[in-house]
Amino acid sequence: MQARFEFDNSYAQDLQGLYVPWQGQNWPDPQIVILNETLAAELGLDPAALKSAEGVAMLSGHALPESARPLAQAYAGHQFGGFSPQLGDGRAILVGEILDPQGARRDLHLKGSGRTPFARGGDGRAVLGPVLREYLISEAMAALGVPTTRALAACTTGDRVLRQNGLEPGAVLARIAASHLRVGTFQFFAARGEADKLRLLLDYALARHDPDLVGTRDAALAFLDRVARRQAELVAQWMGIGFVHGVMNTDNTTISGETIDYGPCAFMDRYDPATVFSSIDQTGRYCYANQPMIAQWNLARLAEALLPLIDESETKAIEKATGVIEAMAESYRSAWLAVFARKLALPAPDPALIESLHELWQGRNVDFTSFFRALPDALRGRDETVLALFSDPSGVRDWLARWRALIPDPETASARIEAVNPLYIPRNHMVDEALHAASFENDLTLFRSLLARVQSPFSAAEGMEHYAAPAPVDAPEIVTFCGT
Ligand code: AMP
Ligand code: MG
Repeated sequence: MQARFEFDNSYAQDLQGLYVPWQGQNWPDPQIVILNETLAAELGLDPAALKSAEGVAMLSGHALPESARPLAQAYAGHQFGGFSPQLGDGRAILVGEILDPQGARRDLHLKGSGRTPFARGGDGRAVLGPVLREYLISEAMAALGVPTTRALAACTTGDRVLRQNGLEPGAVLARIAASHLRVGTFQFFAARGEADKLRLLLDYALARHDPDLVGTRDAALAFLDRVARRQAELVAQWMGIGFVHGVMNTDNTTISGETIDYGPCAFMDRYDPATVFSSIDQTGRYCYANQPMIAQWNLARLAEALLPLIDESETKAIEKATGVIEAMAESYRSAWLAVFARKLALPAPDPALIESLHELWQGRNVDFTSFFRALPDALRGRDETVLALFSDPSGVRDWLARWRALIPDPETASARIEAVNPLYIPRNHMVDEALHAASFENDLTLFRSLLARVQSPFSAAEGMEHYAAPAPVDAPEIVTFCGT
């Protein structure tokens, strides 16, 4: 194979013993279903080269370039509160790292590339529906300005894979990320008492995500604080768009602060703090309102893993780490207030106003996304658009009056509201319809149309009103599956 795609391999070089060298599977007929040409350009990759036979082989894991040193990463994780000491990439490989034209290092990772030594009972595979789901929702998140892994391509493999509903097209997602380091990566080596590897991992993570901390005193503690702040800000952004991740296990909590692992995630339609979509989340552990608390819980698990690097004295280490974890609640709160202040075009966060708005939404079947897009009407003296969204509108006029009194210039505020609050989100009923047509009818028309909407989420497109509309009230409740 020609060295047309150049990879750097810092993970393979610097972190020996933290992974297993591994190749992707050979496929009967790998084909690109969709290629993210905008992202390719951002990475300095030529879309035409990616579409060539060599490119398709790389994006599907069928055959990798010379310069790659592909591997399966080891990690552990708390899943739904219980610790699994050995998870790891069971159906994925890290191909290598791409240095983009700005010099940023980005992982190319393939999900669905076949079984690895970490596969346990799994078949190592992914199917088209869930792969396209991750493609679509991660693109929506990126367009909404939320830190996220990105989808570079979705490929089919040419074979079929058995899932709940029968045979489905086998597929591979080519994913780009700032890194694939997770809380669970640290937990893996902490649980085995491998302090030298833990140190190696910390040095690597610092060099990659917090280079200014390299060589500083108390770097482990400062690192914990950075990750906590990134996660606090991330979850605050999720709350602002009604995003429910669905599987906030520590192996799905990144060090970079990017959203990762779009399995059973979904956007909330009607405001309800208890919203949960995942079929496996029986107790609602990962519901909308619990997300900030769970993020903090996950960071406490990172703190535990880092204790030996924080202080020689365990008592002191615990004391220092506890301070950081407690402070995370405060950074979350200010991030959350800032998110809602921005959505409401407030000149400064007003905690009482923002909290009373959340109370007002409670139990009144308000479509969360539509609410914000109705606000400009209220600035033009038409409260009815907002009132119509509430099954019980009592108190809404009063709230609107309080809010309006804080807005210095209605025209500027209206423009700002429409620039930061999406008209189009990947609504569950639309996503389901699009994925069903793609998986079972080999028809990507709906998928491409929905993708185009969520990639430009703020501007209204002609004739596309139905993409902005909530699900019909009598629509069946959506349940999401991990797709595994
Ligand atoms: P997730 O729930 O996607 O975060 O995955 C949790 C763990 O299960 C990870 O270690 C995955 O690699 C592994 N896994 C999920 N699906 C499969 C599969 N079909 N085959 C092998 N491993 C899998
Ligand atoms: Mg995962």
